[in-house]
Amino acid sequence: MKTKKYIITSSTLDVQNILTISVSAESRNDYISFKPGQYMMISYVRDGKVQKYHSFSVASSPTSKGITFGIKVSGNFTQGLASLPLGSTILIRGPFGSFVPKNGDNKDHIYLAAGIGITPFVSMMRYAHDTHQPYNIGLLYSIKSADTIAFFDESQQLTKANERIHALYTITSQGEPTPPNFATGRISAEHIASMLTSPVKETQFFICGPGPFIQATKKILKKMGAKNSYIHDESFVPSPWDILSQPVTLTAGAATMAASILLFATIAQGNSMAKTTASANALDSIIYTAQINESVNNTRNTVLANQYEAVQVPKTRAVQTQTQQQKIVTTPIQTPVATTPKPVVQQPVSTPKVTTPAPIVTKPVPKVTPTPPPPRTAVS
Ligand SMILES: Cc1cc2nc3c(=O)[nH]c(=O)nc-3n(C[C@H](O)[C@H](O)[C@H](O)COP(=O)(O)OP(=O)(O)OC[C@H]3O[C@@H](n4cnc5c(N)ncnc54)[C@H](O)[C@@H]3O)c2cc1C
Repeated sequence: MKTKKYIITSSTLDVQNILTISVSAESRNDYISFKPGQYMMISYVRDGKVQKYHSFSVASSPTSKGITFGIKVSGNFTQGLASLPLGSTILIRGPFGSFVPKNGDNKDHIYLAAGIGITPFVSMMRYAHDTHQPYNIGLLYSIKSADTIAFFDESQQLTKANERIHALYTITSQGEPTPPNFATGRISAEHIASMLTSPVKETQFFICGPGPFIQATKKILKKMGAKNSYIHDESFVPSPWDILSQPVTLTAGAATMAASILLFATIAQGNSMAKTTASANALDSIIYTAQINESVNNTRNTVLANQYEAVQVPKTRAVQTQTQQQKIVTTPIQTPVATTPKPVVQQPVSTPKVTTPAPIVTKPVPKVTPTPPPPRTAVS
């Protein structure tokens, strides 16, 4: 997959550590077209290294200029991203994913989001509004507290501007102040029922957030009678492949070459134009080298994965033979040379919380006018 270069045009970090970052294609060749709900893999160069690509859903509509992401800043990668100044280049691959409303299917939609899982829905709602889609949208957004709502202003503007779009926020932390028209507790069948504008069997459901949220919400929807094929989900948990792939390092040779290009061009031309071109070339060189290293890493990972399968398959067969024939099979299992196992992806164990049962919200769905979230500060 080709790496595209995008320039940061705006970047704001709010007090809840949510980074809203907008980027524009560096050139026409870098332009990426995408569908609402899809995600991209993002990276950037830090200390001469292309960082490991991380996935982020697009929060803007394909109808808007550029691409906007909503990113919860927590670890090393996202902190680095938040510290990039305006005008910096980020690397994007994509689009990926099939968490996309079907074109021409005009059934009503219910969007079920938790935490930063709101991002693909912001894209879908903006797109539906801009392109005058004929279906209703109900956004049910589960958040810890009223001040942790991401894209609050945007979703409010959309509900005000478009009578087909409704939103209900539910606060999950006990003891948190609950603004008027907000619900409380984790998403329940009552919350979902209050948002329905068509029979449950005729409604398309989209769920996005952490794994346990998706599982719990799917269970509720199935109990309510939602059609399996109408339940779509996007988990923000990285795939084993994301975890397996290693950060790519810039080889000494390429670093020297990149530095030489920059130095040569700067001395020879002695003007700012040359500096820009040279640093672009240096960046290209870093990206190119990283891609070669990455391809070597991917090949190595595929070999490791195959070797792992080779270890697993004969053992499984032996066990099956024993249980089927009720005797010990004496055929020796050939031990493959390498026995490096695939890394185990550990999911954080979530402690179940006791939540106050949510009040039943009755139709029609109220237009929410809660307290605005805290002000945002611009990143310089
Ligand atoms: C399809 C998809 C869409 C997503 N969309 C969004 C979004 O719109 N907004 C948002 O805030 N988050 C989104 N995420 C989650 C986001 O990718 C991770 O939370 C983020 O990359 C973690 O960054 P960090 O700085 O906390 O991690 P770090 O501290 O840099 O890394 C923590 C550890 O986890 C591993 N790791 C964690 N997540 C990833 C990942 N995604 N890819 C590779 N390695 C990972 C790292 O290798 C490292 O070992 C999405 C995830 C997926 C899979």
